[in-house]
Amino acid sequence: MSATVDPHLVPLRPTVHDPSPCPACGAADTAVSRVVFPGIHIMAERHCPACGARFMKDLPVGFAVDHPMAFELGTGRLYAAEERLAWLHQPLVEGYRAPTEAPVKVERTVFREHRRVVLLNTLDFLYGHVLLKLYNAAHYLQRYPDIGLVVMVPRNFRWLVPEGVAEVWTVDLGLGRMHGWYPAIDRFVHEQLERFDEVFLGRAYAHPEFASIDIAQFTRTPAFPLEEFATRPPQVTFIAREDRLWYATPLHKFMHRALGPLRLKRSLGRFFVMDQDRMVRRTMRHVRRALPNARFTVVGMGRAGGMGHMATDLRTTRIDEQVERQWVQAYADSQIVVGVHGSNMLLPTAHAAGCVEILPHDRSGNIVQDISVRWHDRMQLFLYRFVDEFATPRAVARQVVAMFNEFPNYHRTHRVKGFHSGR
Ligand SMILES: [Zn+2]
Repeated sequence: MSATVDPHLVPLRPTVHDPSPCPACGAADTAVSRVVFPGIHIMAERHCPACGARFMKDLPVGFAVDHPMAFELGTGRLYAAEERLAWLHQPLVEGYRAPTEAPVKVERTVFREHRRVVLLNTLDFLYGHVLLKLYNAAHYLQRYPDIGLVVMVPRNFRWLVPEGVAEVWTVDLGLGRMHGWYPAIDRFVHEQLERFDEVFLGRAYAHPEFASIDIAQFTRTPAFPLEEFATRPPQVTFIAREDRLWYATPLHKFMHRALGPLRLKRSLGRFFVMDQDRMVRRTMRHVRRALPNARFTVVGMGRAGGMGHMATDLRTTRIDEQVERQWVQAYADSQIVVGVHGSNMLLPTAHAAGCVEILPHDRSGNIVQDISVRWHDRMQLFLYRFVDEFATPRAVARQVVAMFNEFPNYHRTHRVKGFHSGR
């Protein structure tokens, strides 16, 4: 397939190719005068030969694959902006109207010189979004070995850039500052683009297929080998966040949420964190009753302690690369990870064989978005289990124990004795 019609590449240089109708009059195509790289978004400045409208519109990468935003040049007035997408367009327009002129350090690391490159922009304000965009790198490395891959990442994700990329552009901004319109980033990118004959944008799809990705490319830590599920001692890692809790009852949830507006989350909120710890411990006790040699680990951003001899407690309030690598090793040593739905489940499920996830009712539309699904086949249904948000420790433990007890039979009948074998 010729690269120019490849749907996974957006031609940027020498010529931008993204046919776009005019948002003002509907004319079929509009002309691009320049492209800007202010941070999360990559936008083209366009004008309409029919009605004279001048506007800025997202190129179809990242969340703009689905929801490209367009606004009038100068005023920042949005065209056809849906209210439910305010999380996308509000910060964009606010940033455009008040650009952040402060310098932003962007560090360039070149591994291999290429004249043709794919530029993958992973900048985002949410941890899960950055990671999912970064997963795209595996597809570009695999499908386009002749084209260099240039990855633009936030500083905290530098350690996750996979081997094989041509260049890394590390942007020295925390995710909390990623919203905004940064002329400094735009200048940096334009200076760099001069070096290349041909540039495509990588799509940075929000939900790239994961099962064919080897996570060790990114973390340098091999994932748990499925064929050793039953032979290795059972290990379960709990991901216990303090900012998104496993609640015992709807009343617990309601009371905890009510503390927010009262500014009591830091003080009285401890009760709910301790209650989550209590439920985690009870789950471990139920599992250990059925599987006496089971080992447990707890990770997450939060105060360690309270697990006694039950578990290795790796929680901390100070995250750095060393901590992240230690957590990743714990996931990779675990058959199963257990946690509440959220982007905190992406790396755990990328390394463990399976999970039990506590899924809040209001997140049911986001089911599996936070799971790095490792399996193409029926092992998916066996290994990824979702329980109600108020599931009891006994109910969670029942799923964990069932997975260990039933794995040998299920794996043999669905994988080993079948068309999979010999592949
Ligand atoms: Zn027009």
